[in-house]
Amino acid sequence: MQCKDFYVRARSLVAALGFALVGAFVLGAVPGKAGAEEGRPWPLQLRGQMERLAEVGFRLQRAAAPLCREQASGTGIVLDFIGAYQEKDRPAVSALLGMSQLPQIAAVVEGSPGEKAGLMPGDDVVAVNGKPVLELLAEQKDAALFADFLAGYLADQARDTPIMLQISRDGRRSMVAVVTVPVCRANVVIKTDSGVSAYTDGKGVAVSSGLIEFTRNDDELALVVGHELGHLVVEDGDARSLSERRWMEDRADILGVRLSHCAGYDLEQGLQYWLRRDAGDWLRWFRDPTHRSRKSRVRRMRAEGSHLLCPPSAQVSRVGRAN
Ligand SMILES: [Zn+2]
Repeated sequence: MQCKDFYVRARSLVAALGFALVGAFVLGAVPGKAGAEEGRPWPLQLRGQMERLAEVGFRLQRAAAPLCREQASGTGIVLDFIGAYQEKDRPAVSALLGMSQLPQIAAVVEGSPGEKAGLMPGDDVVAVNGKPVLELLAEQKDAALFADFLAGYLADQARDTPIMLQISRDGRRSMVAVVTVPVCRANVVIKTDSGVSAYTDGKGVAVSSGLIEFTRNDDELALVVGHELGHLVVEDGDARSLSERRWMEDRADILGVRLSHCAGYDLEQGLQYWLRRDAGDWLRWFRDPTHRSRKSRVRRMRAEGSHLLCPPSAQVSRVGRAN
């Protein structure tokens, strides 16, 4: 992946991951210009991207749960909050997305605990386990980060009892019990940036909206996010040498293949991402010496695809690394 960025950006990202989703909104940037999305107002484009990343991220986090040092309570819902948008955009965003002053459920992953509990996109969250969300908001320094904070709050709830969510739908309040599932603790967020990049800081994965648009299907997106999650699972940090860094990248490729397979995605479809990115990119190696040529990576990932098991193992053999 764009893990050439891993080194440089990882440190600054430690603080920025919570910021990433919000930064996206605060910038108010148009999330891109790709074909099918063209013509839709940017808040709706962004919602579409959030939905895709929510599903891919949740399925991968589930698949990675046995490998992660820290697990969290997974709900399969993604939250959004009006305070994350620029003030000038809020009236339009409210109208387009039906947002109130409460955090809103932006996406509910199919088959997830949230969907099983009956939650729907557009529901407002009023209280979590009896704690009013507006009280939680009042405790926050930065309202722009509130959706992110609340997502972490849900992830931190005990797994032995359902999370009781009070929601508001069309002005009617009701109580919903969400029976969570264990997921790998990793905050998967969108960063509004037209560049094609994804990276991890060891706590979460940030994916640019440009990358989400570049991917033609969720198999491609899953292989890319799976690679980043692979780094996170084995806690890759600073490498002492270029060869160690390349080894980390090779391993993340293999783990990405395993995780996306166990999350139910198709490897061959996913690999098309790398084949397309390879086209016309002659200068790649000079920019990015830590990764092998993309053809070589695709060959290795295909080879891994012939003996996949679920749940996946985090053990990757270092032998047979010939280019
Ligand atoms: Zn990488």
